[in-house]
Amino acid sequence: MSIDLADAAREKGIKYFLIAYTDLFGSQRAKLVPASAIAEMQKNGAGFAGFATWLDMTPADPDLFAVPDPTSLIQLPWKPEVGWLAADLWMDGKPVLASPRNALKAQLARAAESGFTMKTGVECEFFLTSPDGTAISDAADTQTKPCYDQQALMRRYDVITEICDAMLELGWKPYQNDHEDANGQFEMNWNYDDALITADRQAFFKFLAKSVAEKHGFRATFMPKPFANLTGNGCHMHVSLWKGKTNVFEAGEGETISATGLGFIGGLIHSAPALAAICNPTVNSYKRINAPRTTSGATWSPSSVTWTGNNRTHMIRVPEGNRFEFRLADGATNPYLMPAAVLAAGLDGMANGRDPGPRLDINMYTQGHTVKGVKALPLNLLDALRALEASDVLGAALGPVVPAFLKLKHAEWNDYARHLTQWERDTTLDC
Ligand SMILES: [Mg+2]
Repeated sequence: MSIDLADAAREKGIKYFLIAYTDLFGSQRAKLVPASAIAEMQKNGAGFAGFATWLDMTPADPDLFAVPDPTSLIQLPWKPEVGWLAADLWMDGKPVLASPRNALKAQLARAAESGFTMKTGVECEFFLTSPDGTAISDAADTQTKPCYDQQALMRRYDVITEICDAMLELGWKPYQNDHEDANGQFEMNWNYDDALITADRQAFFKFLAKSVAEKHGFRATFMPKPFANLTGNGCHMHVSLWKGKTNVFEAGEGETISATGLGFIGGLIHSAPALAAICNPTVNSYKRINAPRTTSGATWSPSSVTWTGNNRTHMIRVPEGNRFEFRLADGATNPYLMPAAVLAAGLDGMANGRDPGPRLDINMYTQGHTVKGVKALPLNLLDALRALEASDVLGAALGPVVPAFLKLKHAEWNDYARHLTQWERDTTLDC
């Protein structure tokens, strides 16, 4: 049954709706619409100038319409008179294929043709910092190994529980919160669900965490590596694939994961350098992967394209035989493009029987050099963009979102490359 948003506004006491979409760089854009105007907007969408956001459009393009998905409605827990809606982008009466939420829906539809649904859970690590982002929020949080630090966690009890209470109220079934491996870093976990639901929740979680942090005088950042000596912000994704009520990744006797699961993982291994462009989409992302050891003793992020059992030093970990954890992505990844790209690569792996190579039961950080023929991850954003450009698999499966993403990201790289840094002066002034 379709949800009538004007009725929902009356029932729930919603005065305004935020009609929001996520652009190609992961930024959320929105219009604040009074409830009296929502009936028209539900039908035709809210109008935007697409070029003004990170989409591959021009100032000459016609109006872009963000049509809200009423099933995504969330009443802001910190301002219940506002209802948030994830929207799909339309132009000229057609869906904009080069937009993140439409791209994910297209991959889910491709999987559905073979009867598959993908379920995902994400672990969105973030730092609480000073408002200007230059220091962690808690000067007393200085332990060398701060992971699970009870004292530091409880000093931020008010922020963490306000976010967790919101998730409880929204029915996301959050189940644990902790201080993570970097000083000032936290992680909050909620239940996995269908990939589109998780993607909408991930987009909303970032908005929620940032909003609550601001209310308490802090800043929540998902930046991949905000502090060079500390562990970065990962966005590990747990993935399972279903046919009806059957999890087709479920391992049989003596298996780590099913043969179908191995094919999916083989697809991720095959497309990993190209996936990095989507999962590690910023210049800063490459300071998290391939990184030197942090002060806590490990980066917890992968540096090579390998898979394993319950071992956190590889790109793919199979903690139990019913799912795998993809550890490549970071906090800058687009909540919609990440699962879209992972599903595209996984479907290719299954269809073509891609061999993921042997399960490696070694500490990849210390023994990685002993294994021959292991693929490396891109060392910087430009290498990743070139890998995505060269990827027939992702190009064919994801369609027009890939050239649009590449165009904007190449422009961003060029902007970065023109930027003069202090490091260059320090190392080159006396040349
Ligand atoms: Mg973590």
